Amino acid sequence: MSSPQEVLPFQAEVSQVLRLVVHSLYSQREVFLRELVSNASDALDKLRFRAITEPALLHGDERLSIRISADETANTLTLTDSGIGMSREELVKNLGTVAHSGSKALLEELKKRGDGSAPSLIGQFGVGFYSAYLVSTKVVVTSREAGGTEAFTWTSDGESSFTIEPSDYAPRGTQIVLHLSEAGKEFLAGWRIREVVRRASNYIGYPIELETEKRGEEGAPLEKVWERINEAKALWQRPKSEITSEEYEGFYREVATGGGKPLAWTHFKVEGTTEFAGLLYLPEERPFDFSFDGKQRGLKLFVKRVLIFDDCAELGAPWARFVRGVVDSDDLPLNVSRELLQDSSLARTIKKQTTKKILELLEETASLKPREYEKFFLAFGSFLKEGSANDFEHRERLAKLLRFRSTFTVAPVDAPVDAPVDAPLDATSGDAAPVPSDWVSLVEYVTRMREGQSDIYYLAGDKASAVSSSPHLESLKKRGFEVLLLTDPVDAFVFESLRQFEGKDLVSALHADLELETSDDEKKAHEEAETSVKPLLDRASEFLKGKVEAVLVSQRLTDSPACLVLGEGGLPAHLERMLREAGQPVPPQKRILEINPSHVLVKALLALDAKEPGSDRVREFIEVLHDQAALQHGATLEDPNLFAKRVTNLLTMAAESALAG
Ligand code: ADP
Ligand code: MG
Repeated sequence: MSSPQEVLPFQAEVSQVLRLVVHSLYSQREVFLRELVSNASDALDKLRFRAITEPALLHGDERLSIRISADETANTLTLTDSGIGMSREELVKNLGTVAHSGSKALLEELKKRGDGSAPSLIGQFGVGFYSAYLVSTKVVVTSREAGGTEAFTWTSDGESSFTIEPSDYAPRGTQIVLHLSEAGKEFLAGWRIREVVRRASNYIGYPIELETEKRGEEGAPLEKVWERINEAKALWQRPKSEITSEEYEGFYREVATGGGKPLAWTHFKVEGTTEFAGLLYLPEERPFDFSFDGKQRGLKLFVKRVLIFDDCAELGAPWARFVRGVVDSDDLPLNVSRELLQDSSLARTIKKQTTKKILELLEETASLKPREYEKFFLAFGSFLKEGSANDFEHRERLAKLLRFRSTFTVAPVDAPVDAPVDAPLDATSGDAAPVPSDWVSLVEYVTRMREGQSDIYYLAGDKASAVSSSPHLESLKKRGFEVLLLTDPVDAFVFESLRQFEGKDLVSALHADLELETSDDEKKAHEEAETSVKPLLDRASEFLKGKVEAVLVSQRLTDSPACLVLGEGGLPAHLERMLREAGQPVPPQKRILEINPSHVLVKALLALDAKEPGSDRVREFIEVLHDQAALQHGATLEDPNLFAKRVTNLLTMAAESALAG
C-alpha cells in the first residue's frame, strides 16, 4: 500500500533559499527554533480549528503540545507536535517548494540588495522551515496527517534533493529530527533551548515541553520528565481581572529590559474588523536602554503569540516612542515585513488604536496621579512636546498634557527668602485658587485667568527663577496675570507651532506689540510720558543707532529703568545663542529698547541731556543703560570690556560723590 523511497529534486528557489540561509544567517542561528516552534503552533491551531467540526481527529490523543528533546549521543535535537500533520503530498509540496510568499519576497529583496544585507532581512521575512539548516547537516521530518492512516518521512541534507518514504510513526502530527552540525551543537544544552524559547516563543498558546532528567531516589536511575518551559499563557491574553499588579510589573521588566517600574499601564483588546490585543506601559523613569535618538526601541509586535519584531516603531505615533509594551495581532501574517507594515492599512489601524490608548492612559494618569505624572513629565515631557508640535491630529490633547512653571509657582531670584513660593504674586483679588504644585497645565492656566485677560502669556529663558524676575513681566505681574516660564528650549518652538490654546493666543511677554488692555487714565498717562521723554528717546536713538531698531516708552515696566524687547519676527536671545552654538548663521538681532518714564534714572537722564545736550556723559549713560538691559534680556554684549570700563567709571563717580556728600 505504501510507495517505496523516492528521491525528488528541490525546486530551484528552495536551493537558493537554503544556500542563503546557511551562508548568510549563521550569526542568527537560534531563529530556527522560533520558526520550527511557530510551525508546530500553526499546525496545532489548524488541528484545533478542524476538530471543531471533526472531533474524531483528536481521538486517541487529546494533548496539544510541542515537545523538544536532545540526544547527546546521537547528536540530535527532536521537535514533536501533535498538530494537523502532513500527508505525503503535503510534505513534498510544503518542504520541497517555495510556497510561502515570505521566501519568494526574501529572494526578491536579496536580489535587489545583495547578500550582505541578509542578516538584517531574516527578522523581517522569517525563513521558515529552511532555517533548520542553520544548525543541521540533515533534517528528517516524519509526519502523520490527523485522521490519516499512513505516515511518511521526508529526509534531506539541504543540498539539492530530498527523499520521501513510508514510516511506521504512530502518533498524530509531526516529528522533526535535526542532525546537528558542529555549530548547532550548542542547542543540545537545555539552558540554551530555554533561553531562546523564553525570548522568542514564550507566549505561544501551547505548552512547550523540554525533556529533562530528574534525579529520583538515592541510587535510582535518572528519570526523564517533560518540563514546561514557556509561560502558561500570554499575559495579555488573560482576562484583566485575573492578573495581579505584581504580574503586570513583572512583565514590564521583560518588555522594558532596562528594569525599573511602570508608572501605569493599559491592557486592552480591540475587536471588530481588526483584532488585536495590547498591553502598554508608561515607564516611571527612563530605562537604561533609553536613548533620545529616533532609533530606540518601540513596541514588541507579536502575531498570534509569536514574537515578530522586538522594536516596532510602526505601531505607535512617533512621539510615543517612550511607551513600552506589546501588540499581538491575529490578522497580520507571521512573515510580515517592515515594508509591509509600513504600508498596510491594518498596521495603520493598529497604530491609530494604540495611539488612542496611549493618550487615554496619559490623560488618566495625569488626572489620577498628578504628582507622579509630573515626575514622569520631567523625564519624558520632551516627547509630548514634540507631539504637540508635530502631531496635528492630537496636538490639542497633547497640549493639555504639557506642564510648565509659571510666575505663580516659581519664586523670582530677588524674592524675599520667606515669600511663599506657591502663592500667586498678586493675592489682593482674593479669588486665586490654591496652587498645590509648582507645575501648571494650560487647562489650569486658563481656568485661573484674570478678568480682562484674553491671552496666555509666556516668557522663554534659561532658568525659571531668573526668567520670573525679568523686567518684561513687571506690568503683567502688576495686573496679576500669570506668565508661563518656558525654560526648556523646546518649549518656545512648541508655542510657536501651537499659537493658540482653547482659542486663546499664546503671547510672548518679549514681544513689542504686547497689547495689554489699559484704562483711559493709563492711556493718558502714557501719552503724556511719551511727550515728556521724547527728547531722551531721540537722543538714545541717535547714540544707539545700529544697535537697536527703535527706542520707545514702555508700558510694561514698573521697577526697572529699561528693557529690550523683540521686534516683529525677532528671535529670543536664548534661541539666538542656541542656534549660534549649533553653528547656524544667525543675522544680528536688532531689538527695541523700552524706557520706563517714571524711573528716577530716566528722569535724571532726561534732565541731564537738557542741561548738556548729547554730551559724552549722556552717551555713556545711555550705552550702559542699553547694555545692562541687553544682559537682562539674556543677550551677549558686543564689547563686555567696554561695558565693564564704563560701569567702573560710573562707580568711581558715585563713590567720589558719596565721599564729597
Ligand atoms: P510558513 O510557516 O511561513 O508557511 P515554513 O517554511 O515555515 O513557511 O513552512 C512551510 C509549510 O510547511 C507550512 O506552511 C506548513 O504547511 C508546513 N509545515 C511546516 N511545519 C509543519 C508542522 N510542524 N506541521 C504541519 N505542517 C508543517
Ligand atoms: Mg513557518
